[in-house]
Amino acid sequence: MIDKYNREINYLRVSITDRCNLRCTYCMPKEGLSTIGHDDILRYEEIIRIVTEAAKTGIAKVRVTGGEPLVRRGVVDFIRMLGTVRGIEDISLTTNGILLADYAQSLFEAGIKRINISLDSLDARKYARITRGGDLQAVLRGIAASNDAGFSPIKINTVMIKGFNDDEVLDFARYTIDRPYQVRFIELMPLGEAGARNDGRYLSNAFVRNAIGNAYTLEPLNGSRNAIDGPARLYRVAGGRGVIGFISPVSEHFCDSCNRLRLTADGHLRACLMSDNEVDLKEPLRRGCSDGDLQDLIRAAVAMKPRKHGIVHDGNAIRKCMKDMSAIGG
Ligand code: SAM
Ligand code: SF4
Repeated sequence: MIDKYNREINYLRVSITDRCNLRCTYCMPKEGLSTIGHDDILRYEEIIRIVTEAAKTGIAKVRVTGGEPLVRRGVVDFIRMLGTVRGIEDISLTTNGILLADYAQSLFEAGIKRINISLDSLDARKYARITRGGDLQAVLRGIAASNDAGFSPIKINTVMIKGFNDDEVLDFARYTIDRPYQVRFIELMPLGEAGARNDGRYLSNAFVRNAIGNAYTLEPLNGSRNAIDGPARLYRVAGGRGVIGFISPVSEHFCDSCNRLRLTADGHLRACLMSDNEVDLKEPLRRGCSDGDLQDLIRAAVAMKPRKHGIVHDGNAIRKCMKDMSAIGG
């Protein structure tokens, strides 16, 4: 599908639950989320039907996310089913890694080859603080298990938060020197309620890149096929085994090359992370709409994609989106 700004839309992020076993302060309220009733969450068969029709409109890549996707029962079988959908060439997963040590092997065998693991601190106490109780060792075991299972590349997503983990920039950079992982620094986005709590905590990736560049020789992977990976700009610490990526949704919009749609756990298609305009698929689906109707609704969501989101940072981030990331599916 080509949208009205000439972007090819071929990537669908599917949130299979809004529940999570962590409560990251920038993503969820303290008491957790789940405003969605059990019956309002799409069943796996319903998601497969949507993905099947989306594939006919040009979606070829699917990322499974949440909330925390590994807390939903049956996730491995669901992924296996996804792998049978004609036209879907690539299935990936984003997880907080807490349950990954137990799941890595079966996820790999079910057809996931690429995995993103979120990790905002390498210090156990700070990790517990930002996640409101998470166990860093469990995540590190999950990362090791993913490596043993054969995942490659393993991407570690690190949201940079001023006054919280900006003192760990070099620790994360060092983490890539003797490990074959890709650490991706992500700018904090002002989403939902949690965004309001984190006002003033945004840190631009220019700061992070400078801090690393002052301590190490940072080589852009220019000329290489891997210089840019989706929205990430990639570098390597000279001599390092791993890669450092910068994803800068606030300071460097990547809207011009945005190729994605998002399916929320309660069955809405979202055209832009930052815009609350959504197309309801669940209601027509449960009313018994035809395959053609579903495809039309998917095209309608593509038609709603704005040229770019409106977030800029001028000392006061402008909030554009009312929902937290865990409700949308990051
Ligand atoms: N629970 C899984 C995880 O944490 O990887 C998957 C869902 S989570 C919503 C996906 C990603 O969104 C995580 O890497 C998280 O750090 C990121 N995220 C959540 N809220 C964010 C925000 N306000 N700004 C930037 N990234 C955010
Ligand atoms: Fe859960 Fe992921 Fe949000 Fe953290 S970022 S609260 S792990 S959904």
